[in-house]
Amino acid sequence: MKGVKKLRVAIIGAGVSGLACAHELERHGVKPDIYEQRPRSGDLVEHVGVLLQVMNRPVKDQIEEIKESCHISIKPLNLVNKVTMYAPRASGSICGKLGYLIKRGQGVDAVENQLFSLVKTPVRYNFRADCAALARKYDYVIVASGTYDITKILGCWEDVYKTWLMGATVLGSFETDEIKMWLNTEYAKSGYAYLTPFNHESASLILVVSNANRKNIVDYWKKFWQIENFTFKISSLWDWEHVSGFVYPHQVGNILFAGNAGGFMEPVLGFALFDAIRSGVYAARSIVEGGKYEDYLARLKENIWASIKLRKVLNRFTNKDYDHLIAILTAPGIKQFVYNTNLDIIKHLAGIL
Ligand SMILES: Cc1cc2nc3c(=O)[nH]c(=O)nc-3n(C[C@H](O)[C@H](O)[C@H](O)COP(=O)(O)OP(=O)(O)OC[C@H]3O[C@@H](n4cnc5c(N)ncnc54)[C@H](O)[C@@H]3O)c2cc1C
Repeated sequence: MKGVKKLRVAIIGAGVSGLACAHELERHGVKPDIYEQRPRSGDLVEHVGVLLQVMNRPVKDQIEEIKESCHISIKPLNLVNKVTMYAPRASGSICGKLGYLIKRGQGVDAVENQLFSLVKTPVRYNFRADCAALARKYDYVIVASGTYDITKILGCWEDVYKTWLMGATVLGSFETDEIKMWLNTEYAKSGYAYLTPFNHESASLILVVSNANRKNIVDYWKKFWQIENFTFKISSLWDWEHVSGFVYPHQVGNILFAGNAGGFMEPVLGFALFDAIRSGVYAARSIVEGGKYEDYLARLKENIWASIKLRKVLNRFTNKDYDHLIAILTAPGIKQFVYNTNLDIIKHLAGIL
């Protein structure tokens, strides 16, 4: 095997997993070529992402854990100290140190730009990479494209949870450390909706509808606003397809899949940010250390399996079930058990439900 520093590595996508991978390769003296189809890094839409501690047990603090294990420091927008949940006939709140809010988009404080500032290699923008051509030219290709396109062509992708998102930046009055979540089959089917604040005056409001498409998402969005009686002003509006998939294997020849392209978007609430970072870093490590990529991914794959099982149960939920779920999750004794311990609730919830 040639010296690690001489390895030729191409990364498709300068998003979260691609930049995390580039940072780890650089730490080991490898200078990758990074290809990005857009004119710059960062999600096209500005929004506020969430990291909930309950989704990543037994990790207590994801920001600390990523700093220690991946050598990447992320500055959050805010803490999440309160989650309020609404079903048609039940609602309730949970308080505590529940997680973080993370800025996404093109701004300097967006997580993509925070990662970008850690990477020394210049990104080749406006370049739509062809995976097969790169695989012939380079020792390794990391597919960090954020979608299933390339993974599907190589026969490694199976759809798990297909959703269409409609989102907006809304203006009103918000608590900066509170997120809100709605569960209602009338407008979200087996999806959900959530509100995350940028600051006291503006927030992202996102509706996630299962098995919807660009044609009917507007009708669900209208229904959502009518039923929940919102009076916010909208400053920008967008829609987006979001698909979680099961991926195997995660490496085909010299091509490795990371982030969403590697199936690392959990299908319960669509969280993917920190597993995108982790999988990008593990792809780099498996290349420079010569280990099997699948072995590095063991814990991430276990978590995804637990989420897939839970998603299958949630897909059968009616509004009555959501009422019960919220009543149970916010009942005083259960609240203490679920949120103030470090129990891996996601692993066990499918069985309990
Ligand atoms: C609206 C929305 C809200 C979300 N909210 C959350 C949240 O709250 N919490 C959470 O954890 N996750 C959230 N996610 C999940 C999100 O997908 C991940 O956080 C993360 O961005 C995935 O990282 P990635 O590297 O796989 O893909 P991305 O960050 O999307 O990066 C992929 C990059 O590859 C580029 N690319 C694609 N194909 C090519 C090509 N052929 N050639 C060159 N470049 C290419 C793209 O332009 C893009 O820049 C959300 C996603 C969306 C869309």
